[in-house]
Amino acid sequence: MVTCELLSVGTELLLGDILNTNVQYLSREMAALGITVLHQSTVGDNAERLSAEIRSSLSRSDMVIATGGLGPTSDDITKEVACEVLGFRLVRDEGILAEIEAYFRRRGHVMPAANAKQADVPEGGTVFKNSCGTAPGAALEKDGKCVIILPGPPREMTAMFEQSVKPFLISKYSGGVIVSHTIRTYGIGESAMALKVSDYLENGNPTVAPYAKDGEALLRVTARAENAEKAEALMSPVIDDIKTRLSEYVYAVDSCSLQETVVGLLREKGLKLALAESCTAGYIAKRITEIPGSSRVFDCGAVTYSNEMKTKLLNVSPETIKNFGAVSEQTAVEMARGIKELSGADIGLSVTGIAGPGGEGEKPDGLSYIGVCGNGGLFAERFETGRGNNREYNRYCTASKALDVLRRFIIRNY
Ligand code: AMP
Ligand code: MG
Repeated sequence: MVTCELLSVGTELLLGDILNTNVQYLSREMAALGITVLHQSTVGDNAERLSAEIRSSLSRSDMVIATGGLGPTSDDITKEVACEVLGFRLVRDEGILAEIEAYFRRRGHVMPAANAKQADVPEGGTVFKNSCGTAPGAALEKDGKCVIILPGPPREMTAMFEQSVKPFLISKYSGGVIVSHTIRTYGIGESAMALKVSDYLENGNPTVAPYAKDGEALLRVTARAENAEKAEALMSPVIDDIKTRLSEYVYAVDSCSLQETVVGLLREKGLKLALAESCTAGYIAKRITEIPGSSRVFDCGAVTYSNEMKTKLLNVSPETIKNFGAVSEQTAVEMARGIKELSGADIGLSVTGIAGPGGEGEKPDGLSYIGVCGNGGLFAERFETGRGNNREYNRYCTASKALDVLRRFIIRNY
């Protein structure tokens, strides 16, 4: 097992000025490479604490990847400190200096003198070029340990990782390739999903790892093999078996969103969709129309926020609203029927709910009713996000739920 620690450098991170996206990105990439991340730590721009952190990380792990602190200013000290800890000498690289000068020239500037230090590279180290900025990165290897230093700006760091660091790590630490697939589910929680595949979570190759994101539960299946074909062969029976176990919860494998799955189904069946949205107010329409080719299947969407417009446009009976409320199963049903009749689409999908804050009692924040009208049915489902009064989250999750209700309806009835 190859082990690694991630070290973020920058006082701005400790002050909460910026979100540490580098560590999330690198953690994912390491997992995909089959390298185990044991610790993540953050230190300010302070030589003593930085050097102590590098030393203690190296005492536990094979490798440290540090980001940040490669800039031209005097508080950027990562390279100097890493070289000191590992006993590397810094030498000026004239080629890199010329590239940095050219970088400024292309932008109509003269290189500030301070930037020259970015052309100092560790003698005997591996230097990674920066295709998006000025600071090169480097790998310092000594006694079987390795410290990799990368620039802080995420755009520069990710480009350098993709172009240089990943190939470096693959050649050093993994014989062969690592391939992964993501099984995407909706409607089952992460722990319930994990329980159904618990035996696989102990697996060595392929590994199976659950995680949750945006109200969905995902499983990443990763295989290491000599080549991609062999990796796929290791994974495919596992993926098939997991798909069978999780059956209708699985909506896609790999980078396919719920809306993409739904648009695909509508296209496949030759169906047109019309939406009547109250609390999501166009969120479902937005997500559907993110997908190229959605114009073939998406007819219209009405944002009917007021009771009056629910009645005027969708023919929802004022009695229904009076007796059951705007957020009710009955109103959702009439909205779905109303938009289907108005448009002539094959399926009418409606949402009425409480994004919050302000919900209470029987009608809490995050409650919604999702109505469907089409072949084989006219009904509404009750749904609760269970996330309190987070308006944005409630709207997003309600839209996801509506997309999933629609997905299941199409699979069942067309
Ligand atoms: P530095 O190389 O430390 O001077 O970092 C330059 C800039 O990169 C910082 O001001 C941040 O905007 C960004 N940055 C540095 N570290 C991170 C990180 N861990 N996550 C996201 N952005 C970062
Ligand atoms: Mg900094």
